[in-house]
Amino acid sequence: MTKIENDPKLDFHQVLIKPKRSTINSRSKVDLNREIRFKYSTIKWKGVPIIAANMDTTGTFEVYNALKEYNMITALHKFYSLEDYRKMLEKGLDPNYYMVSTGIGQQSFEHLSSILSEIPCYWICIDIANGYISDLVDFCAKVRETWPDKIICAGNVVSGDMVQDLVLYGKVDVVKIGIGPGSACTTRLKTGVGMPQLSAILECAEYAHRFDAHIIGDGGITCPGDASKAFGAGADFIMMGGAFAGHEENPGEIQTQSDGTQMKVFYGMSSQMAMNNHYGKMEKYRASEGRELKIPFKGKMENTVLDYLGGIRSTCTYINAKTIKQMSKCTTFVIVSQQVNNVFGGI
Ligand code: 5GP
Repeated sequence: MTKIENDPKLDFHQVLIKPKRSTINSRSKVDLNREIRFKYSTIKWKGVPIIAANMDTTGTFEVYNALKEYNMITALHKFYSLEDYRKMLEKGLDPNYYMVSTGIGQQSFEHLSSILSEIPCYWICIDIANGYISDLVDFCAKVRETWPDKIICAGNVVSGDMVQDLVLYGKVDVVKIGIGPGSACTTRLKTGVGMPQLSAILECAEYAHRFDAHIIGDGGITCPGDASKAFGAGADFIMMGGAFAGHEENPGEIQTQSDGTQMKVFYGMSSQMAMNNHYGKMEKYRASEGRELKIPFKGKMENTVLDYLGGIRSTCTYINAKTIKQMSKCTTFVIVSQQVNNVFGGI
């Protein structure tokens, strides 16, 4: 067994996208909508392949309302009850633009079943921190057997072997990639486990596409340039938490600091705060692999959305990509010797 893999693995900040001759003379010529057919589900989806993370602070109905205007998806957090969904359904829920999230226990399965029995839904997001445990593949296969036509996403993993298992044996349409890159994540510090996200996306995209499946690049996107790098590396979708946090539409009060700056709280889903909110305590055998942070208040979600969409469009004009789908074909990365992005943790 190889004890050390010698080829360097890279994060977003260690590369730049090389510009190329382009015939796309204006950002308005770029179409960011993508139409996708899936490996198992027969649902044909069209939209902008950007997803708000299923975290307490971003996977909410309010964020859904803001993002669906831009044909983007919100992965709703798993703590909404059937009653919450019923109320939201009365106000209108477009099944193209939200995901129902679930863990992999029996209780999670029952909760998922109760929601899907009443609520029109296309997307299921099966989400656990460590996608390497064997129960995940079995759970995915059970969900596929029960709902053959849903678009099933599952993760998180960071290597081709697990992408293959999830697609072939778990019968998953879309594999979610990312262990350790999240802005509120401390897995790398607490466990020493992880994989630089750009390399994880490159490897996993290759495996998934070989089997006609898709991937979501989840975590570590701190600015529009990172989003373009993720698409350029082969992500079919990107998922963002921190970038979509800190707005009027996110839950929580604005806190004014002594110097007048306005902040909002954002926290990881395995942080002490999330554990206390949902389970009343942190089990003693677990170490918190998430943190709580205050991030600057960013005003309306629309500001962030337009900033990201404008940035991605601009990348496309630099590399001659007419659509997000073409970005990976048109991207060549150059490795840079030092950090080139912002260094503020990005949110
Ligand atoms: P971000 O866009 O903020 O960099 O990353 C968002 C992703 O971080 C989420 O979609 C999820 O995969 C991951 N994440 C959220 N909360 C936690 C946590 O408490 N611990 C860890 N390890 N990852 C988290």
